[in-house]
Amino acid sequence: MDKEYLHEEEMLSRDELEALQLKRLKETIAQAKKGLFYWDRLEDIEPEDIKSLDDIKKLPFTTKDDLRKNYPVGLLTEPVAKMVRLHVSSGTTGAPTAVLYTQKDLDTWADLMARCMYMVGIRSWDIFQNLSGYGLFTGGLGIHYGAERLGCLTIPAGAGNSKRQIKLMKDFRVTAIHIIPSYALHLATVFDEMGIDPKSLNLKIALIGAEPHTEEVRKRIEEIYNVKAYNSYGLSEMNGPGVAFECKEQNGMHIWEDAYLVEVIDPDTLEPVPDGEFGELVLTTLKREGMPLIRYRTRDITRILPGECPCKRVHKRIDRIKGRSDDMFILKGVNIYPMQVEKVLMSIPEVGQNYLIVLEREGHIDQMRVKVEIKDEFFVEDMRVLKALQDKIQKRLRQEILITPKVELVEHRSLPKSEGKAIRVIDKRQE
Ligand code: AMP
Ligand code: ZN
Repeated sequence: MDKEYLHEEEMLSRDELEALQLKRLKETIAQAKKGLFYWDRLEDIEPEDIKSLDDIKKLPFTTKDDLRKNYPVGLLTEPVAKMVRLHVSSGTTGAPTAVLYTQKDLDTWADLMARCMYMVGIRSWDIFQNLSGYGLFTGGLGIHYGAERLGCLTIPAGAGNSKRQIKLMKDFRVTAIHIIPSYALHLATVFDEMGIDPKSLNLKIALIGAEPHTEEVRKRIEEIYNVKAYNSYGLSEMNGPGVAFECKEQNGMHIWEDAYLVEVIDPDTLEPVPDGEFGELVLTTLKREGMPLIRYRTRDITRILPGECPCKRVHKRIDRIKGRSDDMFILKGVNIYPMQVEKVLMSIPEVGQNYLIVLEREGHIDQMRVKVEIKDEFFVEDMRVLKALQDKIQKRLRQEILITPKVELVEHRSLPKSEGKAIRVIDKRQE
């Protein structure tokens, strides 16, 4: 039987791991100071000043805005000539930011990615199809090189062209896929159209991530495709995918702490919050050469899950990402995350695979309209049946978000579908 882990780093004891982190934190500071940005920022700090991991608090935060202001190459700590790859973050929240990699960085990244995939049972004999966009988005090449490193036959299918995706899966007897969850749900409707049951394929494992999604969506994907689906978290600023990943327990994502130092802070006070409490995830790269980032504020809201994982890895686990701090919207004084809406919708069997939240202003009153796709078999002519369903959805949403939204039932496949990360909210209030 092959061993359950790929690298020694995965199975370190807590003490060994922390000693390694401390060593790498000092190296990171030394490396960071080679570049203009941190040379200036860390003027008064030398690696020797860091005596324990707790001393990270002496270091300043780095924000998305710092990356934007120093675009395109202001954060590099090695000459551009030494860089071999460029990625750009998706820009869902404003101007894009660039991340550059040395060859060593790419090797580290591929190793981390391979480790994630191995952890959930992917092996060299698996046939792996990557259905996420290639190009500047890290979910393409990032995942790709991980799969190749494991020795999988790797199909760089990219996003979109759903019928061809399904053909490839069938023809090559694909066993594992990487797919953005909203696209996995959409693809299910294309399977339907083609009259093919996804369960009749050879799929066993789906890696899903790159966008917030709920446990209810994972369950749907597992049920539709007859796979185990594992949550994959990453961001371009920290390489891309491969930062945190679920193990077979499917109970929180292990952050690879030998490569990333993790903190969770209160975004208002910037003070650390205790394990188990939600806050903003802050990460420091511990192995990056070309563009180390110190105390990077991800704006992703999550918490450290206390307690040990039965898989024995000591690397801390983070909870499913609730959303970005900037995903949250305020309506009638109530803070709402789109994922709260998703959780309700996806637990209702009549609801199809897509939805959209529209915020609008009627007179002086802000309103929330939730457009919900209904599965074909439930989209009946009888208005009374539809009205009852509409009321049910509205009531359940009210219980979760404490305000009463307008619910609009629409036909299957009628809402706009993006091939990359889904856009869940349209805010028309300022128009
Ligand atoms: P990008 O750098 O453009 O790929 O975007 C990274 C962002 O995508 C992260 O900061 C998160 O907000 C989001 N993201 C990535 N993976 C996940 C995941 N598994 N769950 C929720 N959000 C995610
Ligand atoms: Zn585990």
